[in-house]
Amino acid sequence: MSSLNVICPHCLKVNKIPQKDGYTKANCESCKNSLLDTTPIEADENNIDHILANSDIPVIVDFWAPWCGPCKMFAPIFNQTAQKYPLKALFVKVNTEALPNLGARFQIRSIPTLVVFKSGLEKKRNSGALDPLRLTSFINEFI
Ligand SMILES: [Zn+2]
Repeated sequence: MSSLNVICPHCLKVNKIPQKDGYTKANCESCKNSLLDTTPIEADENNIDHILANSDIPVIVDFWAPWCGPCKMFAPIFNQTAQKYPLKALFVKVNTEALPNLGARFQIRSIPTLVVFKSGLEKKRNSGALDPLRLTSFINEFI
């Protein structure tokens, strides 16, 4: 059976899990919390490279800032859509106000900007908030 490396959303430990169509239960070997938790990870300069490099499932990053109205409206759409992808995609947020170096490094010129990474490489980006349907089809290209 092939396996997948996934990042624990709680402690960021890399877990190797069997590849399946769906999962009813999977717990982190380190912190024992559920790997099925889809709450987006708040990334920073210390963990973003670890997350991008070690996730075999696509990583969807929302670059946002607290002062940005469209970002705030988009946040619940991002969180709710994430619930459809346990162990299929990893949802990550980067606060570009608190972390301007990351915004610069990933050349974020407007927010919100969504970037899809696979195997550590950027595959696609979208500037501007998406409605739930468009967000789903944006992600499904990589699932
Ligand atoms: Zn963990």
